[in-house]
Amino acid sequence: MNNFQLTTTQMLERAEKYFSQKEVVSRTDLKVHRLNYKEIGQRCRSLSDSLEALGIKKGDRIGTLGWNHHRHLEAYFAVPNMNAVLHTINFRLPQEHLIYVINDAEDKVLLIDAQFIGLIEAIKDEIPSVQHVILMTDEENIPETSLPSVYLYESLIEQGNPTYQYPENIQENDPAGMCYTSATTGKPKGVIYTHRSTFLHSMALGLAETTGVQEEDVSLPLVPMFHVNAWGFPYAATWFGTKQVLPGPNVTPQLILELIEQEKVTMSAGVPTIWLGVAQALEQGDYDTSSLKAVICGGSAAPKSLIALYEDRFNIPFIHAYGMTETSPVATLSRPLSKHKELSREEQLNIKATQGRVVPGLEVKVVNEDGEVPADGETMGELTIRGPWITDQYYNAPDKTAESVKDGWLYTGDIATIDEDGFIQVVDRTKDLVKSGGEWISTVALENGLMAHEAVAEASVIGIPHEKWQERPLGVVVLKEGSDVTKEELFEFIKPMFVKWWLPDDIVFVDEIPKTSVGKFLKRALRDQLSDYYLQ
Ligand code: ADP
Repeated sequence: MNNFQLTTTQMLERAEKYFSQKEVVSRTDLKVHRLNYKEIGQRCRSLSDSLEALGIKKGDRIGTLGWNHHRHLEAYFAVPNMNAVLHTINFRLPQEHLIYVINDAEDKVLLIDAQFIGLIEAIKDEIPSVQHVILMTDEENIPETSLPSVYLYESLIEQGNPTYQYPENIQENDPAGMCYTSATTGKPKGVIYTHRSTFLHSMALGLAETTGVQEEDVSLPLVPMFHVNAWGFPYAATWFGTKQVLPGPNVTPQLILELIEQEKVTMSAGVPTIWLGVAQALEQGDYDTSSLKAVICGGSAAPKSLIALYEDRFNIPFIHAYGMTETSPVATLSRPLSKHKELSREEQLNIKATQGRVVPGLEVKVVNEDGEVPADGETMGELTIRGPWITDQYYNAPDKTAESVKDGWLYTGDIATIDEDGFIQVVDRTKDLVKSGGEWISTVALENGLMAHEAVAEASVIGIPHEKWQERPLGVVVLKEGSDVTKEELFEFIKPMFVKWWLPDDIVFVDEIPKTSVGKFLKRALRDQLSDYYLQ
């Protein structure tokens, strides 16, 4: 067979050739843009040409700080297709991490939304590798800036050659993109995606047993484009000729529902806190969501009650997926098997609430100190994974690599069980598990229990130091607006679900649970906030 190199160039070329009239709808802070793949392709080529004119060469890193919009999508292809490397930066990183990742990646050019000018001006003297900044905005909106070398994106598009030819000698193992983990402790860790890994991961998203995204779909990625490439949807959707809806800045549950209704979105992806918010808006308002074939939820555990709410109340199919920056990210995904059709609804929901089975192409093992755990759905161990879109190293960090990659397997830091059909249940992150008297308690399971109560909007469970038991669980709950429930009632509600010693020692009510920059519960901050909390 052909030793055919797998590159992102082919993905864009297919969209240009066969789906020239299909639409990309993009919201920016000023307007809604409607472009087709022919125009997107020409703009990508113009951008590559202009970047070349600015001196960008093979292997150079280009950073982006941007919301989800068409210009960011264009960079997704324009940069790797010219054999440079797209570094999508989380604009919510603390300043010291922002400086760290730009320096570690040695970004030569930054493509930024105008609203992030202040962020870059504040650190401009500490990021010596950056030679140029390109503002992803229209001519009429150039803000004042003290940055030395600033270009306007739309002017570069006008000046560039829309028929620019991409190099044909790109090798599939050449780097195409990079992302840093958001690092709840220590420094962010960089992961490089290659052309090959991006190609294969995108192809995997199209499998019927994963997301099955295809031409007839309308894709709305709510996960930010800096968060593991919006989970790969922009790449897969472009390649397959799928209409894309890119929601831009200031995304609210109402806006999401309006976009779904207006653009007839069929598939959308986001973290559980996004879907919790959308569920509340759906309960309060009247929106037509009948176009939706699936919402995809990952990044942290999707509570079973949330899945039931979407599927049984709103009639929206819900797919739970698991992954991490290091896994491109989609690694496992929960779709019940044909034999599960016979099961009761409750049993089916239990299966849907697991993290599911490994995507074809990857391999998993759950291991403890004795080796691989039995596939009994009960024995816990660390989830390890390998495959063509799983990283085998961290960028510039051999010590971190040595901690996490052993014999070619990535150790995820997640504790899980696996059953004989390969369904994985993530019990907890190693660092979040409550270790009580030598036994482990899953905070994820307790959170699921609490969130099943109709008065609860959000729940998080953390381990609190305890003299006798070493650690005990503490429930932290945010109530839905206008709802009322006592902690005694919540205890009564979850009691039947758990053995007695698993139950939290106490439940406290708060107005808000702190979240990470990608919308996950920030347990470290909760632990700090409640460090004085003393359990009897
Ligand atoms: P960060 O580590 O910065 O949060 P990632 O987005 O890479 O960035 O996070 C990956 C982690 O998120 C996984 O190791 C796992 O702990 C958690 N995670 C992702 N998806 C799920 C899921 N469906 N269920 C439970 N945990 C999940």
